[in-house]
Amino acid sequence: MNDHTRGSVFDSDSASLSGTLDEPLLRVENLTTTYDLDKGYIKALDNVSFTLEEGKVLGIVGESGSGKTTLCRSIMRLFSTAHVHTGGSINLAGENLLELTEPMLRRVWGRWVSIVFQDPMTSLSPLMRIGNQVSEGLRIRMSLSRREAKQRAMSILKSVGIKSAKEYFPRYPHQLSGGLRQRVAIAIGVACEPKLLIADEPTTGLDVTIQAQILKLLDKLRYDHKMAIILVTHDVGVAATAADDIAVMYAGRIVEYGPAGTVIRNPLMRYTRALLDTSPHLYHDPHSRLKTIPGHAPDLSNLPAGCPFSTRCVAVGERCHNERPELIGAGDDDTHRYACWHPVDKVGSKTS
Ligand code: ADP
Ligand code: MG
Repeated sequence: MNDHTRGSVFDSDSASLSGTLDEPLLRVENLTTTYDLDKGYIKALDNVSFTLEEGKVLGIVGESGSGKTTLCRSIMRLFSTAHVHTGGSINLAGENLLELTEPMLRRVWGRWVSIVFQDPMTSLSPLMRIGNQVSEGLRIRMSLSRREAKQRAMSILKSVGIKSAKEYFPRYPHQLSGGLRQRVAIAIGVACEPKLLIADEPTTGLDVTIQAQILKLLDKLRYDHKMAIILVTHDVGVAATAADDIAVMYAGRIVEYGPAGTVIRNPLMRYTRALLDTSPHLYHDPHSRLKTIPGHAPDLSNLPAGCPFSTRCVAVGERCHNERPELIGAGDDDTHRYACWHPVDKVGSKTS
């Protein structure tokens, strides 16, 4: 447990950091999250490590069930049940979030780190006017008066592209379109200008034009406020357009990681290639059906001994069945990392 008598960076009234950090804003190390089930447990996150600098966007991509939401919820410390166990460390501004007490966490939520979920209907209160939902957080977290909070909420709604904020302020979530609701959820997430915004599939289910607007909005926020963003998406094409770095997840692990351009142009994992093939963002020929990755996501309670993707991989070899590959640097360029015994460029295109 941290000794908070020495003072925490989270005690300060303004979440201002610029120039004060001698290490990345976020450093996640060996993050492992398990869910207790009736029959044993599953490791939904297995030794996940990465860093994220101020103002940068990390895209987390992977099929459904690969652990993306578990990662977001673990960083937010949103698990309250005794059936979820999280190990490793999550250092935000040099403090391990896993060691924070509940009162300290409340100081962190909203002002240091916020989350926006895929379906804003689950995070917005159906019974509260949207304007009040934005201003309430401001009143509580920034100790603003009712009037100040209302003014600020209005300007935040405008900044997320709700031009007639005054007209929308008194409306309820069900009176808004899906795109507008997601903007309100983002407005709530960024109201206190957190240093880190976690967006868990913020554009899934929205039409392409609205998707593009939301991505543009996130981009503006990171430039205007130096906000770091974890952008979770099952569509690697979304990450390709919006992220600086990409982490590809499979069965609770990061299996490929690197600068977005490198990962997209030169994916080393067959799984990453397959994800690229399934991206509606990258392949939007309306006359062709979208591809899917053959086979099923693995059963986390019964993973193969070797590479978790071995049961579906076209380039599978003997070693893949028996030994689990660790994440290693790709030769000269260690910023690009992968976990595979037979990466794409080592065997050419015959297995692609
Ligand atoms: P993703 O967001 O990539 O779809 P999730 O993090 O939601 O993946 O899920 C990862 C794995 O953890 C899945 O096998 C899922 O069934 C399991 N899981 C997620 N939430 C829970 C939970 N609350 N209890 C038990 N298992 C869970
Ligand atoms: Mg999810």
